Amino acid sequence: MSTDSANNARPSDDRAFFGHPRGLSTLFFTEMWERFSYYGMRAILMLYMTTAVATGGLGWSAADAAPIYALYAASVYFLPLIGGWIADRFIGAKRATFVGGIIIMLGHFTLAFPMMPTFYAGLILVAIGTGFLKSNISAMVGDLYSKEDERRDAGFSIFYMGINIGGFLAPLICGYLAQNAQFRAWIEGIGFDPNSSWHFGFACAGVGMALGLVQYVLGRRNIKNVGNLPQAEAKPVADAGAASSAPTQDPGYIVKMVVIILAAVAVIGFAAISQGFSYALSYVLMPTVVVAALIGVFITGTQDKLTRDDWKRLAVLMILFLFSTIFWMGFEQAATSFNLFADKLTDNRIFGWEFPASWLQSVNSLLIVIFAPIVGAVWMALGKRQPSDAVKFSLGLLFAGIGFLVVAYAASLTTGGKVSPMWLVLVYFFHTIGELCLSPVGLASMTKLAPARMISLMLGVWFLSISLGNYVAGMIAGEFVADAAVLTRIFMIVAGVLVGAAVLLFALSPFVKRLYTTPQEMVPVEPA
Ligand code: GLN
Repeated sequence: MSTDSANNARPSDDRAFFGHPRGLSTLFFTEMWERFSYYGMRAILMLYMTTAVATGGLGWSAADAAPIYALYAASVYFLPLIGGWIADRFIGAKRATFVGGIIIMLGHFTLAFPMMPTFYAGLILVAIGTGFLKSNISAMVGDLYSKEDERRDAGFSIFYMGINIGGFLAPLICGYLAQNAQFRAWIEGIGFDPNSSWHFGFACAGVGMALGLVQYVLGRRNIKNVGNLPQAEAKPVADAGAASSAPTQDPGYIVKMVVIILAAVAVIGFAAISQGFSYALSYVLMPTVVVAALIGVFITGTQDKLTRDDWKRLAVLMILFLFSTIFWMGFEQAATSFNLFADKLTDNRIFGWEFPASWLQSVNSLLIVIFAPIVGAVWMALGKRQPSDAVKFSLGLLFAGIGFLVVAYAASLTTGGKVSPMWLVLVYFFHTIGELCLSPVGLASMTKLAPARMISLMLGVWFLSISLGNYVAGMIAGEFVADAAVLTRIFMIVAGVLVGAAVLLFALSPFVKRLYTTPQEMVPVEPA
């Protein structure tokens, strides 16, 4: 993923984009539109699957829709590991991002056709395309700055704003097209089936990605020094992207990899034979693949002799991986169980006007744009007194847990009919603060604690934790029924897991801090 081209001579006085290199503008808008397409489609995906056929949906139960969503979302965050590897080895991050964008766009346009084969094909294409794009575009942002450039963290903060501007706008537009009654009436007026409104929503996601690609191509001169293969930059191969250059010549390494793959296939195969194909696909495939990938990453990263300090840092990373997975398992229910809650149990009206349930999917991104600078300022003001990374992680889990207590309470109120959308806004508020405590720290830890040659792999590991979190978040939505008692119970269990994890990590934090005693001591970072 990282092409480590930062030591190429490039003008560090390029301040064309808010004091940052011009290339940041190109990457900012490409990622903004890519996230527009991702979050726009995601906002309506679960609703499309569970809406009655009579109103254009697939008419599935939540239990049937959940594994499809879980597999899709987990793949979106799993495949960047492979996309990063392909970029590092064969095509470079810049071309990988372009290829990824094309595949994503085609995926959304494929979803625009109202047929089952195009539905599955579209999901697969979007997941593969995101695998090519997501981590490689972030690696290019890192490459815009030399190692000494102090603007790097701020550059990532700006980039994160782009992500969330896309994430804010998309559900409003795609959600409106998919769900709004006036729009349905309008397309009927011009000769379309009103039920195809969902597919207008999917197509709109594709148009967003197309716009991102157009400006990626137009701005290509701004990023000519980043995201290239090391050879193309005439760098000595020895120090280029060493993180991912697994010594594939080593037969021992290949044997280990083959054993892992065979073991994973055996586990999935056994599940398929004993429990049936669809059980294996829904419950066993993704967790097995993620665990196998994690072991593979570990073996790859520990090829060379690691120092004692390297091992300590790896131990911290593994602890953070585990807790990060738990956090995303809660947080990512935004698009699954909270989305269904918004659709079925929330009174979606402002001043008497009914808005689409999918609009609530915008709230997290909006709150990130508002609160990211505030949380960043709080950490800055605390300076050296700010909590350690593990404590910030534990705060993230705690806020996520509080969000679930709120949604559990809101669910209990649904015995009296639909509840105010402000409940979900409050839930998203807590989850946003949690995200701001945990996510930037997690990403920064992965890049800063990892032994130098494992940085790319560790970014992939970060995505693996999000992948696993998304998988569980998707599967939990399978339990969704519009029943106050059932929902309150589910949300209380999730709240218990999150708060329990927060307390456990808080208790472990002095121990984790001791493992940090390395030359690479973490430096405080602004929210990425
Ligand atoms: N909203 C951010 C993004 O889309 C982070 C969320 C996540 O990675 N789970 O990149």
